[in-house]
Amino acid sequence: MERVAIVTGGTRGIGSAISHELLKAGFKVAATYHGNEQAAHAFAEETGCAVFKWDVGSFAACQSGVAEVAERLGPVDTLVNNAGITWDGMLHKMTEEQWSTVIRTDLDSAFFMCRAVIDGMRAKGFGRIINITSINGQKGQMGQTNYSAAKAGLIGFTKAFAQETARKGITVNCVAPGYIDTDMVAKVPKDVLEGIIATIPVGRLGKPEEIAHCVSFLADTRAGFITGATLTANGGQYITG
Ligand code: NDP
Repeated sequence: MERVAIVTGGTRGIGSAISHELLKAGFKVAATYHGNEQAAHAFAEETGCAVFKWDVGSFAACQSGVAEVAERLGPVDTLVNNAGITWDGMLHKMTEEQWSTVIRTDLDSAFFMCRAVIDGMRAKGFGRIINITSINGQKGQMGQTNYSAAKAGLIGFTKAFAQETARKGITVNCVAPGYIDTDMVAKVPKDVLEGIIATIPVGRLGKPEEIAHCVSFLADTRAGFITGATLTANGGQYITG
């Protein structure tokens, strides 16, 4: 079966590693991005992979973007909702814009993207949806009420949607990374990051490839009995039941 995957935010960081892993597994990959032309260009050059630019925080842009991918690559059977941002601050100083931008980009986007692909997956009787949540959605993180709410919301969304799609051969799961060595974590001040690493039992940050491996496992046709699950990959930093 020919496989076509969309990886949002798929041109750098964890998303780029996911795109590489799915390409290796034989998927046609549409990697999306938002504003970093340089990274997108470098990724396209390196992989020969199609890149697409749209804001995952826009319902209309997700609709037209998915339609364009389907037209160029074929019907989409795999969606990785990976694009995400942080905009940290303590709640007593957080602006409405700070709150709603993170919720829109990290949570509303999952609805927008799923709404755009679901009819095609239902028609095909097969699909794989993987939402990238976070350790900070599982445990909560001071200074990240917006991000923790969005990422916890993704877990609830996944559990509900998995039940709606199960009979149609479509699985919906989360991958919950701990702290991974990407630009997002590079924004954390060095002393704070050293403190965080000290709390990770494996004693280091995770690698983007380690998250990509979780995604390709869940995207595989053989993972059809796993749905509504959260696969945690955090070096033992937060162990959930
Ligand atoms: P990066 O900041 O390195 O990359 C983020 C990606 O998302 C970029 O490709 C970016 O596009 C894209 N993106 C951001 N906003 C939008 C938007 N509005 N529309 C479309 N694309 C957008 O992040 P990471 O690779 O570190 O993180 C990837 C995912 O993993 C995120 O959901 C993050 O929350 C999650 N995560 C990361 C952890 C970490 O430690 N790094 C830990 C736990 C979860 P562009 O390149 O154009 O800017």
